[in-house]
Amino acid sequence: MSEMIQSNILEISYLIAAVTFILGLKMLSQPKTARKGNFIAAIGMTLAILTTILFHKQNGEGISNLGWIGGGIVVGSIIGYVMARKVKMTAMPQMVSFFNGMGGACAALISLNEFAHYTSGGEVTMMNGEVLVMLLGLLIGSVSFAGSIIAYGKLEGKIKDFVFPMQHIVNLSILAIIIAIGAYMMINNLADPVWIYLIFGLALIYGILFVLPIGGADMPVVISLLNSFTGMAAAFGGFLYGNYVMLTGGILVGSAGTILTVLMCKAMNRSLTNVLIGAFSSKGGPAAAGQGDLSVREVTPTDVAILCAYANKVVIVPGYGLAVAQAQHAVHEFEKILEGKGVDVKYAIHPVAGRMPGHMNVLLAEADVPYDKLVEMDDINPQMPNTDVVLVIGANDVVNPAAENDPASPIYGMPIIQAYKAKNCIILKRSMRPGYAGIENPLFFMPKTSMLFGDARDSIQKLIEELKAL
Ligand code: NDP
Repeated sequence: MSEMIQSNILEISYLIAAVTFILGLKMLSQPKTARKGNFIAAIGMTLAILTTILFHKQNGEGISNLGWIGGGIVVGSIIGYVMARKVKMTAMPQMVSFFNGMGGACAALISLNEFAHYTSGGEVTMMNGEVLVMLLGLLIGSVSFAGSIIAYGKLEGKIKDFVFPMQHIVNLSILAIIIAIGAYMMINNLADPVWIYLIFGLALIYGILFVLPIGGADMPVVISLLNSFTGMAAAFGGFLYGNYVMLTGGILVGSAGTILTVLMCKAMNRSLTNVLIGAFSSKGGPAAAGQGDLSVREVTPTDVAILCAYANKVVIVPGYGLAVAQAQHAVHEFEKILEGKGVDVKYAIHPVAGRMPGHMNVLLAEADVPYDKLVEMDDINPQMPNTDVVLVIGANDVVNPAAENDPASPIYGMPIIQAYKAKNCIILKRSMRPGYAGIENPLFFMPKTSMLFGDARDSIQKLIEELKAL
């Protein structure tokens, strides 16, 4: 086959792959089509990899290091397969963060590798624009890698928020040093690898220090920001190689991540600068709400079942605990029984409930809860005063009224689901432990609130039995 035909096949396969990425991304926006969208995009990626291996030519030569490439694919596929099979649904956010970090690391490695082509025979052979793209890919990819690994550790509960004196000045200084070294390298055409490794090392340190202090309720913003960084870094890799499929993939991930970052900032009512400066963190501590001496009211499953069965309108607020308890199927059954008794049941979805954007939507879609039963926060809040019972299932921070009425609270300003406005509020959780932001919740101590302690799935099973017996 002539080189021209091979090159045409390659270009066409890249075009097909780019189209599958766009289609896949579009399909990922609906739980019904998400699985298919993921599959279609994966086929496109496989096609792009295979045709590159078969038809890519440089100076008339095909790819020679097939052993390394094949080995990488086999080892990577086995690790990815085993991790994806073994991971518990509750550990999914950590895994997404980890994989995002791997994407950033790949982009950084591309830049490091390309530095070898910066000079040839002592002569600088790259244009300044290319060097800039290489350095940006290295910087953003390394920050994304290091930051995502820290985010992984935080979601896993292994790394605690760490605030240190003058952190912003330290972080900005590191960034300024990186930029200065990059500029110095480019102006003086420095080809000594020590410079690029210095930038790499400093970028890793910056990634760690940038994510370490950000915590509590700000994590969703950081996660989506890191996601957009990985996309951008991959796009820079695509620029460097003149590889359109990589460029398209990177731009799609980068822009999707950026849109998500904007949405998450809006959901938290925070500007990105505020998040990066890190005012929300668990440093307010559990005592922030100062409810120490107040007591809570406990109820039995029988009381809750009766209350719900005779209600006109019940709103369920799912949170991270629903995922921990894997109570999505039970809650759907509970909702169907109530609907059978003529009760109007809706789910109130907070944009940052759970541990990853869209967590509750995915969880409830898994249990086949009809999508029209899921109501966004802004639409459900006005309905709260007419709601007879709100069942808060494994949610905490997203219903914390301190966000509205306690300026001293670390989450002050974050929009919440106004469960406190409903006529009755039932909280399903195991203990009085706080949620992710680490702060106490005054909702639990209100006169209209009752606690149903226990694992959410066990509690809902008991409610189902009680409802059936009524
Ligand atoms: P929270 O983390 O605030 O609260 C979850 C509650 O679930 C806990 O209070 C816990 O209480 C309870 N729980 C845990 N396991 C069970 C169980 N088996 N049965 C019953 N209850 C259980 O969750 P929310 O969804 O309200 O809020 C999400 C938080 O996570 C926000 O602060 C958000 O900013 C943050 N975050 C969100 C991300 C995202 O992208 N969505 C990413 C990272 C962080 P107990 O232990 O007493 O049972």
